[in-house]
Amino acid sequence: MKLIRLASELRALQADSPLAAHCSCGLGPCPGWTSLTEERWPAAQMQPLVTLRDPEAHEPTFEERHPQGTRYDSPAAPVAIQFFPYNRCELWRCQSCLRQLLRYTEYGGYYVDHRVRELSPTLDILD
Ligand SMILES: [Zn+2]
Repeated sequence: MKLIRLASELRALQADSPLAAHCSCGLGPCPGWTSLTEERWPAAQMQPLVTLRDPEAHEPTFEERHPQGTRYDSPAAPVAIQFFPYNRCELWRCQSCLRQLLRYTEYGGYYVDHRVRELSPTLDILD
């Protein structure tokens, strides 16, 4: 998968992502980070686009960036691509509704938790 390092590159892709209102697939709205089990991820219709995770970075930062005072799971939180959790995301496109979805995996002591967030065309993308 192609690696994206700049906010401007992701903005160019975001311009092709339709509003969630047009979604017809089973993912449901996920304007903020949402847990989605592997079983519910519609793998057959998901196309990988790019990755934001630099394979050279052994331990991407867990620091978050919220210049407007948003929180991790705020629907209005910006996509700060060099910060957690965007720095470990892949970007996928649903071939049914054409939405673009960011996805990464949380690793806990006894679980893995897949999280998705749609890359809405109205979201701020920051470096
Ligand atoms: Zn869809």
